[in-house]
Amino acid sequence: MEYDLDNPEEGVRECPKCRHTMQYLKAYNSVRYNEGYMIDDGRDRTNAVAFWFGTYAALLYRFYRYVAQPFSDKKTGERKQRRLDRILKAYPKSLICLHCHFIWKRR
Ligand SMILES: [Zn+2]
Repeated sequence: MEYDLDNPEEGVRECPKCRHTMQYLKAYNSVRYNEGYMIDDGRDRTNAVAFWFGTYAALLYRFYRYVAQPFSDKKTGERKQRRLDRILKAYPKSLICLHCHFIWKRR
């Protein structure tokens, strides 16, 4: 039996880079996720900043940590998803590797 490379069975494609199973980009990108959340890593240095640089600097620090940083993370996530949308328009059968994020463009 010949292996038909153009019409593989669903879910049997391997990533050419790392050999992990690839997923349809369409399914992957249909999940609208929000990356603009705060990761509480317990590294809030507001008190230290206030001590060394004053209250005003501490306020700026807080603004950056709790507003600017999550906001820019969210924008980055949206940009990434818009890029995948564009790829999907041109290559609707594209596959993505969830391991190394390699994108295999297929029409
Ligand atoms: Zn891979």
